[in-house]
Amino acid sequence: MMTLKTTDQLKRSSIYSLTQNDLSQVLMEAGFEKYRSQQIFQFLYQKRLNQFSDMKNLPESLRTYLAEHFVISSLGNLDHQISQDKNTHKYLFGLSDGLRIESVVIKDGSRNTLCLSSQVGCSLNCRFCATGQMEIKRNLKPGEILDQFLYLKDKHGSIHNIVFMGMGEPLLNYNNVINSIRILNSKDGLDVGIKRITVSTAGIAKGIRRLADESMNIQLAVSLNAPDQELRAEIMPFAQKITLQEVIGACHFYQEKTGRRFTFEYVLIKGVNMRKGDAKKIVKLSKELHFNLNLIPYNPVSGCDYQSPTPYEVDQFVKNFQYSRLEVVQRKRKGRDISAACGQLLASQPD
Ligand code: SF4
Repeated sequence: MMTLKTTDQLKRSSIYSLTQNDLSQVLMEAGFEKYRSQQIFQFLYQKRLNQFSDMKNLPESLRTYLAEHFVISSLGNLDHQISQDKNTHKYLFGLSDGLRIESVVIKDGSRNTLCLSSQVGCSLNCRFCATGQMEIKRNLKPGEILDQFLYLKDKHGSIHNIVFMGMGEPLLNYNNVINSIRILNSKDGLDVGIKRITVSTAGIAKGIRRLADESMNIQLAVSLNAPDQELRAEIMPFAQKITLQEVIGACHFYQEKTGRRFTFEYVLIKGVNMRKGDAKKIVKLSKELHFNLNLIPYNPVSGCDYQSPTPYEVDQFVKNFQYSRLEVVQRKRKGRDISAACGQLLASQPD
């Protein structure tokens, strides 16, 4: 159950939102030594202490300062649903201002993949997505992103992969998402390998270019969903403003700058984007860009008249790639029975 926070607690910000550099800066401005940030990071993320008063190696004045200015966790778990096959776990979390988000853990044998949310709602109204039907409420802070990870790591023992593919468009909350990744990846922080972290964007071209410039080696996934501008803009209306050409230009830039392969995500929608001609255009695109193609059968969302393809239709579409060099991955359908599958997250907000 969610623990109710006092007004005083609400005024303080989550210390999880600070990168180690930010924390050093804050400490120095308050008259404490810079190196204390490393100790505090180790207490928070390696020893996982939940009280500043338990950080015994710190001087009492610093413990008091921290307790007066920060809280350690700001997230409360409101609900937990498990799919019938037990492989998908969906969590509803309450934030300190009463708004809600969802996160998902997908199990594959002993491996756990965590799907993190980056915003409350989303401003990009992709037609196949339930989150897109919600209005955008706000960006999540780095601490609220990390809180999802920490809570679910405690619940599930270990998290092997992290994907920013939950509610929201991560590249429209760029700084907070990158700062949360810095803390996840920091040696004194959570020490998660950068290759295990994927940012999935609907196609924010400027954000893709910015990410390429970070030289952080974060994995990139981009929603393609249609190989031509007109159809893509029909499926994802924001694509009228950020065109396919711009997205492809940004992907070229990403590849030139990082030398890395990325993933194109492709939601398979019956009778819409599964024609032979669509596959041919994707194969043509693979001759100029190095990407893996991740095929995701559309998951039903209320208020959307798209339909899921049958397994036979998916197989027929996949056959179009058999003589190409493209690496095609068919995403298994997971968590549909608890609306935890791709595009189905929708945390109803309090009035
Ligand atoms: S698919 Fe992603 S970007 Fe598109 S509406 Fe849903 S959450 Fe937003």
